[in-house]
Amino acid sequence: MDLKDKVVLVTGSSRGIGLEVARAFAMQGANVVLNARKPIDATIIQQIKDLGVNCWDISANVTDVDSVKNLINSILEQAGHLDVVVNNAGIVRDGLLNRMSEEDFNSVVKTNLVGTFNVIRQSLRSMYKQRSGCFINMASVVGLTGNIGQANYAASKAGIIGLTKSVAQEVALRNLRCNAIAPGMIDTQMTQQLSDKRQTEIINQIPLKRFGQIKEVAATAVFLAQNDYITGQTITVDGGLTMQ
Ligand code: NDP
Repeated sequence: MDLKDKVVLVTGSSRGIGLEVARAFAMQGANVVLNARKPIDATIIQQIKDLGVNCWDISANVTDVDSVKNLINSILEQAGHLDVVVNNAGIVRDGLLNRMSEEDFNSVVKTNLVGTFNVIRQSLRSMYKQRSGCFINMASVVGLTGNIGQANYAASKAGIIGLTKSVAQEVALRNLRCNAIAPGMIDTQMTQQLSDKRQTEIINQIPLKRFGQIKEVAATAVFLAQNDYITGQTITVDGGLTMQ
């Protein structure tokens, strides 16, 4: 897919990986829709517009079906079409099983997995009509391996991988694709909060001996959108932490 003038929605793009993904698509000439639950800082929107593309900020909560319907309808009204959907919005509520509340489990699954389903479901009608486009879902290596203290998060991300393969099979006849990215430890606010000791322990387990950069995840999203013959895959971006 040539990304110039395409319209790309990135959910959860007020900061971190999502914002970098939006920037990376804008640098390819794509118009981008930023999204989070709250309005996004005006300076961020201007920085993306300065790359010479359109940038819309449409607040929506991916867990709420009506909010997602409004998001997709607003995109179609304002941008005219929707070509790439990056399901990136995600939360963590870590805790050991015996201390993990039902609310902690459900809220993570609802945001990460059900939120991804909601956005795909509501985008389908227009993408089926145009018979081109793709979905890119942000999973995690934890969805492949599991992790102590992350039963909710790992379940949600494993669910995203299964969802991705099912969607890929179902939409392929309409020339749509669906892939996932499974980042490992990426240098974000989340990983910067770990103690120096814990960061060193983790780095020692990574063959490439460093955390990943958000631009390395973003470049993978752009690659998956551009390559028209990849579907149903989960690409790990993890410095070799998990080798299948
Ligand atoms: P951040 O916490 O920095 O950003 C999450 C984004 O999602 C924010 O923009 C947040 O905005 C938004 N968001 C959260 N809940 C909702 C919701 N219900 N509806 C709409 N937007 C929402 O996360 P990261 O950048 O670190 O991670 C991005 C993705 O990558 C996540 O899916 C995460 O699981 C995944 N990932 C991250 C890794 C890492 O090392 N950082 C490793 C592996 C996977 P707001 O709160 O304002 O709504």
